[in-house]
Amino acid sequence: MELIAKIEKLGKWVAESQNLVVFTGAGVSAESGIPTYRGKDGYWEKYDPEKYANINYFNQDPSYYWNFFKEVRYPVLKTAKPNLAHKSIAELETLGKIKSVITQNIDGLHKEAGSKKVLELHGNTRTFSCLECKAEFNMDQVNEFLKKDLPPKCNKCSGLIRPQVVFFGESLDPIILFRAEKDSAKADLFIAAGSSLVVQPAASLPLIAKNHGAKLVIVNIDPTPLDLYADLVINISASEVFSKIV
Ligand SMILES: [Zn+2]
Repeated sequence: MELIAKIEKLGKWVAESQNLVVFTGAGVSAESGIPTYRGKDGYWEKYDPEKYANINYFNQDPSYYWNFFKEVRYPVLKTAKPNLAHKSIAELETLGKIKSVITQNIDGLHKEAGSKKVLELHGNTRTFSCLECKAEFNMDQVNEFLKKDLPPKCNKCSGLIRPQVVFFGESLDPIILFRAEKDSAKADLFIAAGSSLVVQPAASLPLIAKNHGAKLVIVNIDPTPLDLYADLVINISASEVFSKIV
């Protein structure tokens, strides 16, 4: 099928849908200039994801994460802007189309774009909490703390602060996972965008939707292992597809 015909077909399905679930992965963030863990640009080489993204390492030496945050993560998040994919998905929610946006991404850009019904499977690196008193902070507050102490200290109890992100070695929040599975099962249209659909639960949510009767659409530059189960596969960028649909 021609690309234009595919997008028209998807547009029709979105128009008909009552329960649209959009699932997004790293490809959607990459369009906002967020490098992936294993990016080729050398930008991350100084910091090893096996260390900064690992809970055991964080417990052992939190300063490694915080140096990474201060030097790399914070500047990236301060400048990254939602792209056309984030904005178009937020617009679909305004139009009453979205049941939920389920994301693997930890940059918080769906919420920045205005989406409200967001399930962040791996949390995000824009919000923080004190391990002692559970006080919550945003990234600008934490950046201020970092000017005095590294690792930063809670301004209420001097406790250690951590990002509200799921580190390697930690389980996903079972409540968020449960909601993601429930919404996937209720979907009548499930669009997976910018994810290689290899790791769990990315590999299973589209199939839960499909098994419960949803149409499955995969939007990704590269082929995925779930393409053979999809009703439609579109191999171009998510921003191009979603902006055209809206
Ligand atoms: Zn505290």
